[in-house]
Amino acid sequence: MTARLMENAPLAPYTWLRVGGQADRLILPSTEQDLAKALATTPETDPLTILGVGSNVIIRDGGIEGTVIRLGPGFGKVAVDGTKVTAGAACLDARVAKAAAQAGLSGLAFMAGIPGTIGGAMRMNAGAYGGETKDHFVSARAIDRKGREVHLTAEDFAFRYRHSEVPPDLVLIEATFEAPQGDAVEELAKIADIMERREATQPIREKTGGSTFKNPDPETSGGRSAWQSVDAVGGRGRVVGDAQMSELHANFMINRGAATAADLEALGESIRADVREQLGYELEWEIKRIGRHA
Ligand SMILES: Cc1cc2nc3c(=O)[nH]c(=O)nc-3n(C[C@H](O)[C@H](O)[C@H](O)COP(=O)(O)OP(=O)(O)OC[C@H]3O[C@@H](n4cnc5c(N)ncnc54)[C@H](O)[C@@H]3O)c2cc1C
Repeated sequence: MTARLMENAPLAPYTWLRVGGQADRLILPSTEQDLAKALATTPETDPLTILGVGSNVIIRDGGIEGTVIRLGPGFGKVAVDGTKVTAGAACLDARVAKAAAQAGLSGLAFMAGIPGTIGGAMRMNAGAYGGETKDHFVSARAIDRKGREVHLTAEDFAFRYRHSEVPPDLVLIEATFEAPQGDAVEELAKIADIMERREATQPIREKTGGSTFKNPDPETSGGRSAWQSVDAVGGRGRVVGDAQMSELHANFMINRGAATAADLEALGESIRADVREQLGYELEWEIKRIGRHA
């Protein structure tokens, strides 16, 4: 089998916020061999961008230069072996949480409410409710620009809050986690609780991108979190074009229907400017903004 390749491919449908221009070239590999071949035959000077399910990105209106890779369902498997959980990079975090819980493993339930893939979770050190991807992470496999398999440890990732250090053009294909034995009934109850809390506090049925800004250092922000910072400058509900800061969760942006990436980015920058001027500290974007301006 060979990877599907599309020229001038619209990318908005591949993201939660549903904005963005076209990829010069979009490659959708189904197997590791497809991916390795596609990478080995793409010139190393060609810019490379990797997409998960686009739950943490604003793709700019001018699209993305070079090649975009989005892993297909062949990378979506999850398997539990004793206390080890191995998941493909395209596997949704929620599936990993459920598989671990069903096997009675404790510590991965936090993934149940994060709508991204394991690839995105590794790159972002995704986390919620006190848990982070790094906590039970053991190792990963990836494919480099030459099409070679690479093995990575937690040290290679140097995980920090919503950040890891792996080179951006390394395509992560699989992660292994290890979690202690717990109780399946308890873990499944934690997942049900997380799902209920998400529904009540986040605009999860909207076109959104999750947390817009990282929580600032409490020492500089006087203990304010990101959403409290947005609220403190009157940002909740603020509108630019068809982009809006959610009324339900002040740190979530939503596309009300016809927003452009420029609207969303201008909205975020207007909040950052107000926080800088009125409160005296910087809010750092958590959502990645990628690609060319229109
Ligand atoms: C409703 C909602 C709730 C959310 N709640 C949370 C939350 O509680 N906690 C949290 O941490 N995040 C949250 N997020 C943000 C988001 O789900 C996470 O950051 C997630 O890890 C992103 O995964 P993704 O597959 O969507 O990655 P994308 O958004 O597609 O990409 C994010 C980054 O990961 C990289 N990447 C993706 N896959 C790979 C790969 N295979 N190899 C190499 N790099 C890769 C991309 O290049 C990009 O830099 C939320 C988002 C939404 C929409």
